[in-house]
Amino acid sequence: MIDAYVGLGSNLGDPLAQLRRAVRALAALPGTRLCAVSPRYRNRPLGPADQPDYVNAVARLATDLAPRDLLAALQGIERDQGRVRGGRRWGPRTLDLDLLLYGDEVIDEPGLRVPHPGLAERDFVVLPLARVAPPDLTVPGQGRLAALAARFDPAALIVVDHDDPAATLHRH
Ligand code: ATP
Ligand code: CA
Ligand code: CA
Repeated sequence: MIDAYVGLGSNLGDPLAQLRRAVRALAALPGTRLCAVSPRYRNRPLGPADQPDYVNAVARLATDLAPRDLLAALQGIERDQGRVRGGRRWGPRTLDLDLLLYGDEVIDEPGLRVPHPGLAERDFVVLPLARVAPPDLTVPGQGRLAALAARFDPAALIVVDHDDPAATLHRH
């Protein structure tokens, strides 16, 4: 099995519920085991600012699915949760699932690039990734994850305490 990491994001239709449902769907994928899910982080939107905040997380999977099949499965989960394509770039969405890493593979094909482009520049990807990945993980072409994570201020992201029914926000 290959270790694969998936970035989850939502800013429409009860984002925490969207992420919970998406995690269940990831756990149910064929040939796939859900190994870990990071804390959920509340985060200002990338791109257009006139949209609700995002909630982001990263899931670690062990999978027998090939990269293309995994991407297709992720897009199927997005569709199941009402993702409508064709809006503005980085516009609001019920669910976004990005394939961040697939083992140590580098893939550069039409419609599939791994590691996910922009991964290293995004605190809302690197910080949750560092919570579920082994400490010595290397991101192909980018170096050690720990070094990438050290460039970001963890206080800039707000952990959403999903166990609190009031979904209280607190800094960690
Ligand atoms: P970003 O990719 O910058 O986070 P986004 O998630 O909003 O932006 P989408 O509209 O969800 O972008 O996806 C655009 C296209 O990206 C998809 O059609 C998909 O084929 C392609 N893509 C390429 N590499 C990946 C990947 N590693 N994971 C998910 N989609 C990818
Ligand atoms: Ca994305
Ligand atoms: Ca995407």
